Amino acid sequence: MSTAMNAMHPGPLARVQYKTGIVVIGAGQAGLSAAYYLKKSGLTQGRDFVILDQSPQPGGAWQHRWSSLTLSTVNRIHDLPGLSFADTLDGNAPEVRANIAVPHYFEAYEKKFGLIVYRPVGVKVVCERNGRLRVETDGGYFSAQGIINATGTWETPYIPEYPGQGHFKGLQLHTKDYQSAKAFSGRHVVIVGAGISAIQLLDEISQVTTTTWVTRRPPEFREGSFDEGAGRAAVAIVEDRVRKGLPPRSVVSVTGLPVTPAIESMRARGVLNRLPMFSEITAQGVRWSDGREQLADVILWCTGFRSSLDHLAPLMLREENGGIIMAGRLATMVAKQPRVHLVGYGPSASTIGANRAGRAAATELMTYLGMGS
Ligand SMILES: Cc1cc2nc3c(=O)[nH]c(=O)nc-3n(C[C@H](O)[C@H](O)[C@H](O)COP(=O)(O)OP(=O)(O)OC[C@H]3O[C@@H](n4cnc5c(N)ncnc54)[C@H](O)[C@@H]3O)c2cc1C
Repeated sequence: MSTAMNAMHPGPLARVQYKTGIVVIGAGQAGLSAAYYLKKSGLTQGRDFVILDQSPQPGGAWQHRWSSLTLSTVNRIHDLPGLSFADTLDGNAPEVRANIAVPHYFEAYEKKFGLIVYRPVGVKVVCERNGRLRVETDGGYFSAQGIINATGTWETPYIPEYPGQGHFKGLQLHTKDYQSAKAFSGRHVVIVGAGISAIQLLDEISQVTTTTWVTRRPPEFREGSFDEGAGRAAVAIVEDRVRKGLPPRSVVSVTGLPVTPAIESMRARGVLNRLPMFSEITAQGVRWSDGREQLADVILWCTGFRSSLDHLAPLMLREENGGIIMAGRLATMVAKQPRVHLVGYGPSASTIGANRAGRAAATELMTYLGMGS
């Protein structure tokens, strides 16, 4: 059975099928930006597009991040189109927790532009059905002409495999599990990874307990400021990769780690003494190929995230190498499935990139589907 949605009163979805034009999956920076442009182009919510998000409240992945991540420790959160982040902040902004300020901003944004987000609604599967896309959620089903997928990476933490991993008697955690350094007091923590999160958590944890820092490759520190030109060059490298269908690389792998005052102070404290990757995990710790062993209570894997795209598996978007060939103005369109746009993926996996991608995806998908004026 097909039914029209009462878009003004989002609530639990009944187990029926809704027909709409475009389903935006995810209401983080990328999804909200896309939705803003769909609405601005004259599309009607409910009939022409719907926004679904599995998280309980506005804020995208930011609502789930650890509390010591403040506006002074994040890289930079760019404004969504049409509303300045700064205008939604109370005083003392730099010390404000990102997991409070960003949800507050997104909530204000949704209200200001009347963007109706159905939440918590998790999309389980998207598949083709009778020439349309069937979006199966934990509430109802949607039959759509196209989708803009904006599901980010937070739900897909990546932990590489090492021999002996199952035998470790201590605690193995991922960045996603981190709440605060206090929990590690009195325990030796092995921190794995060379990205921005690894460095931030190493900084915090090393102030309360002993740490060992291991990385696969020597981290590349970048002295000096990171200007717009360098930012564009980094995005271009990732964009080039996804247009060729290669798996996207992390931004840090192409930009290097900026040397911040926090990093200078870590250097001075002697906690940036990086070791190469261990070769196996033992019951009590980690061991290198030369036989050296480090006892540990906790292994904290700051080894990044992958794009959360499992629900799109039936569409068979991936190439053999795991990448997806992307096309379109900002590489948001899946080349072999132009009804599907991925925003916040590859070159748009940053708050500024997500904004631009949202606009490009909305415009291109509407044109492809013959929607709007
Ligand atoms: C620790 C950390 C710090 C970062 N700091 C910065 C920074 O300072 N500046 C910056 O530009 N970038 C930063 N980034 C990258 C940042 O995450 C992105 O820039 C941006 O916030 C991602 O927005 P997004 O909309 O793509 O994804 P998200 O914010 O992850 O939003 C995705 C949304 O999709 C929903 N969702 C997921 N799966 C489903 C599903 N199956 N069904 C329904 N809904 C679903 C989620 O609930 C979520 O609300 C950081 C990343 C990390 C991990």
